[in-house]
Amino acid sequence: MARYTGPVCRLCRREGTKLFLKGQRCFTDKCAIEKRNYFPGEHGRSFFRRRQVIGYGQQLREKQKVKRSYGVLERQFRRYFQKAARQKGVTGEMLLQLLERRLDNVVYRLGIGSSRTQARQFVRHGHIRVNGRKVTIPSFLLDPGDEVSVREKSRKNPFIQESLEDVAGRGVPAWLSLDRDNFTGQVVELPNREEIKIPIEENLIVELYSK
Ligand code: SF4
Repeated sequence: MARYTGPVCRLCRREGTKLFLKGQRCFTDKCAIEKRNYFPGEHGRSFFRRRQVIGYGQQLREKQKVKRSYGVLERQFRRYFQKAARQKGVTGEMLLQLLERRLDNVVYRLGIGSSRTQARQFVRHGHIRVNGRKVTIPSFLLDPGDEVSVREKSRKNPFIQESLEDVAGRGVPAWLSLDRDNFTGQVVELPNREEIKIPIEENLIVELYSK
């Protein structure tokens, strides 16, 4: 599976906003956006000062933000868009809902992983169960009622324990429920747009792909 393996703070700096790709560090003053909030690269400062994005550029940036936040590459992202466009409802919202239903995202939202990248690794390495069965596919889509749990043997994993402690302060979205003592979470319902806390204008992505 192809994936981006370069420095992730660079992606946030390119978008000029926090994409929360590095777990707890994103909430500290070590965050690169706090320290160097301008574009990466030799001429980053001057480009950042002169930036003025409209039309296609704006649509492209919104799409890149979402792709980078969820760690999805172009081909897969386009497939999500096509699937969202076939569903009933507002396409932009359906797109975000599909991305939120991914197993790696749910593991992250439940606080089992401190970032989506870490959550994805937990899934890939077989630490996660869905309805009691091992699932190692990060893009696996969850439905309401599905139960996500940490494998018995992995519950002592210090990264999982630390991350679950951190989530106590951060909270779990209303569409999920978490039983921290039993390392188990559940999808209560599908998220609506207000519950998906991501600062993007998804209608611009729809406009981009509808050309
Ligand atoms: Fe982005 Fe987190 Fe790096 Fe800050 S620390 S720039 S939010 S990945």
